[in-house]
Amino acid sequence: MAEIGKDIHRAKQLLTEGQLVAIPTETVYGLAANALNDKAVLEIFKAKSRPHFDPLIVHVASLAQAETLSSSFPEKAKALAQKFWPGPLTLLVPKKETVPDIVTSGLNTVGLRCPDHVLTLQLLQSLSFPLAAPSANPFGYVSPTTPQHVNEQLGDKVAYILDGGECRVGIESTIVGFENEQGMVLRLGGLAIENLEAFTGPLHVQLHSNSNPHAPGQLQSHYAPGKKIILGTQAQLRAYTHLHAGTIMFQHALPGVAPNQQIILSPGGDLEEAAQHLFAALRTLDKTAIDVILAELVPEHGLGRAINDRLRRAAY
Ligand code: AMP
Ligand code: MG
Repeated sequence: MAEIGKDIHRAKQLLTEGQLVAIPTETVYGLAANALNDKAVLEIFKAKSRPHFDPLIVHVASLAQAETLSSSFPEKAKALAQKFWPGPLTLLVPKKETVPDIVTSGLNTVGLRCPDHVLTLQLLQSLSFPLAAPSANPFGYVSPTTPQHVNEQLGDKVAYILDGGECRVGIESTIVGFENEQGMVLRLGGLAIENLEAFTGPLHVQLHSNSNPHAPGQLQSHYAPGKKIILGTQAQLRAYTHLHAGTIMFQHALPGVAPNQQIILSPGGDLEEAAQHLFAALRTLDKTAIDVILAELVPEHGLGRAINDRLRRAAY
């Protein structure tokens, strides 16, 4: 098991030595290494059993640092960074040669994000290099939102877990790419598309690409627990209550299933609260002695779109 603590200096020391440290962000916990050190980055891929075609997001302390990693930062990307960073938004921009190919899976763009978490921002500000950090879970599994989640699965592969408590947003960042100065959403995430579009105008959304996974967030099966998941509305899920099931419901329990097998994401019907609790709920039910998880689709607006996206990929 890894050491868990709040010691930024220790995290800094380990990262500077080229080791892996799990870091808190507002979205999910990341498995971080010096993004400019090929060898250190390779350890991330090994620890996660992550295929090399799946590029990593690079975390920076500021827009100024982001600009040092890009050969030409699009004006539209800059405007988005100024508006939404620090925050759950990843921008794909042309990369500079200094960013190793292993980080970007050979692509000529790099995914950059400034995370909104006080400990990790302090850490990033104290470092002389940016941090490559995908979610701190084995490839394809549910992302971690607490230090304990990280420890359970990668505890023997990471030197230190920086404890920033439970993640506030709870689902991964929204990813925006640019083609001919035109913004395009490649992954729904913790920044609601309505908030983005209020600033940018209508954005094209392209979420699926199995042949060319620009963002493996784009693979149809991802974020998946081991157990079978059945998705539906309350009414549709009632058809399955004869199964040995646990549920993940939005506001109200599902009649016909024992209350102690049910997780209600947000009794008050708050999509942000639901997003924050979603991944922990999947993990809990994955460990419960049931045969199947019945999961209710949530309203398709705001963070609800990202929640449903994750549920569909988890169920695929
Ligand atoms: P994770 O942090 O595990 O959610 O994964 C990071 C996501 O960002 C992956 O799905 C990547 O495909 C995506 N990503 C990172 N860099 C790039 C890039 N240069 N081009 C396209 N997608 C990227
Ligand atoms: Mg991931």
